[in-house]
Amino acid sequence: MQLELKHIRGGELEQEYSCHPKEFPGLVLLTGVGDSVYRDPVLVKLRFVQSGRLIEVSGYVQATLDLICGCCLSPFTFDLAEEFALSFVPESTLPDLTTEVELETDELALIPYREDRLELLVPVQEQLLMAVPMHPLCLDDCKGLCPDCGVDLNKTACHCEKKVFNSKFGDLAHLKGREV
Ligand SMILES: [Zn+2]
Ligand SMILES: [Zn+2]
Repeated sequence: MQLELKHIRGGELEQEYSCHPKEFPGLVLLTGVGDSVYRDPVLVKLRFVQSGRLIEVSGYVQATLDLICGCCLSPFTFDLAEEFALSFVPESTLPDLTTEVELETDELALIPYREDRLELLVPVQEQLLMAVPMHPLCLDDCKGLCPDCGVDLNKTACHCEKKVFNSKFGDLAHLKGREV
């Protein structure tokens, strides 16, 4: 996924890519672990605006993933949709820019480019990875599994006795009571 600057005519360009998840090595890696699987296709929309040598990109990624709920362990479908913005500057101007504004490259979120070509794969992949929840939940209020009998409490209720949460805590309260 690359773009040559000469294709941005009149300072603006809109591109739409329908990608196979395999085009992104980072997503393949994640799939290998087995906790999230990107379905085909991954949709990427990018709008390029050029002002001088600065290229600003507004982007949108959309994908469907198979995830495992971290609470009840059920597989579920997650619809990923994320907007983002990127700025590309020529690699040669980067050191001057950062000393002038006294900011780290990371803070500016500037991506260097070389030979009038934007490398888009890595920054787009980053967006796809960041949009996946760290602790996926099938429902906002997933009830999880019963710690005693293991039933999925979203589907069935169980009749396990709700035990006192922590007996040590009870002892502590007792001791404190005596001190007073
Ligand atoms: Zn769940
Ligand atoms: Zn139970």
